[in-house]
Amino acid sequence: MRALCLTAPGGFEHLELLERAAPVLTAPDEVRIRVHAAALNRLDFWVATGAPDVPLPSTPHVVGTDAAGVVLEVGSAIHHVRPGDRVVVNPGVSCGACPSCARGEGVYCRSFGVLGEHRGGTAAEELVLPGRNVLPLQGEWSWAEAAAFPLATLTAWRMLTTRARVQPGETVLIWGIGGGVAVAALQIAKELGARVAVTSSSDSKLMQAEGLGADLILNHDSVEDVPRAVKVHFGAGVDVVVDTVGEATWPRSLRALRPGGRLVTCGATTGPIVELDIRRLFWFQWSLLGSTMGTEAEFAEIVAHGNAGRFRPPIDAIFPLAEGRAAYQRLAAGEQFGKLVLEVTP
Ligand SMILES: [Zn+2]
Repeated sequence: MRALCLTAPGGFEHLELLERAAPVLTAPDEVRIRVHAAALNRLDFWVATGAPDVPLPSTPHVVGTDAAGVVLEVGSAIHHVRPGDRVVVNPGVSCGACPSCARGEGVYCRSFGVLGEHRGGTAAEELVLPGRNVLPLQGEWSWAEAAAFPLATLTAWRMLTTRARVQPGETVLIWGIGGGVAVAALQIAKELGARVAVTSSSDSKLMQAEGLGADLILNHDSVEDVPRAVKVHFGAGVDVVVDTVGEATWPRSLRALRPGGRLVTCGATTGPIVELDIRRLFWFQWSLLGSTMGTEAEFAEIVAHGNAGRFRPPIDAIFPLAEGRAAYQRLAAGEQFGKLVLEVTP
């Protein structure tokens, strides 16, 4: 089978389309699928550029963190899908046996890993993975939409529901609209009944966010004081800040929060080390929340929403698998609004 692989760490020039042995079932609880489309996430950028805390498990390393396709074969213990079913893949893989997994909290499993990061990725014509990591698609989906859906939507869903517990009528500030998680967070926050402010340095991305329901759009290059602009618009600091940016936005994220507000983060694209004045933390009674991926139950929730037509990810561009390097270059440029998709099986 064909697979898009990194032959060495440290840059996109090491991405190559290789012929690899097709994977086979090794356990009764596994499924084998034919991948129709795979999608990239910010994580793929870190893996390909060789971030020091994201070493390749082995080389050549199949890339890609999201996928959708058709079931080819199921192990004897799998009953929720059958060969021929269209499925979407949950890229978060846990051991399935430890106390955290037994409680349904695979995100706390000590062997939790993500396809394409800790193990082989999704940009391959065939994929074998635990059956609990696939769910059937229903209704109208393009392969690109289905592949672009899981990681970003699951991450944003857990951030806004389980972690930040956004309520109808609350206000949410989302930095850096355009990336997959930020766009999914906007769609989910609107579905939850929140009023949402988004920022970007691109007016074109802000216009697209407005089309998805953003109540306040702020160009953080031209608006000098984003926290103040948010407070003027909503009449108070926001209930929730979604910050995936890190060092560059952290101080302003805290200034934008109301007393009792919650800051939820799942990423640190501009750097991971920030300052915190503990006196302000306790005086304003803020909650600082970390979040990563989501549980199996949360995955089932988002797939149910997706099957009902909600949270469909905007697709920025679709590249043939053989042109995967171009998709990475667009990811690196940061100009995309929505998801970058690889067409694996036309
Ligand atoms: Zn486990």
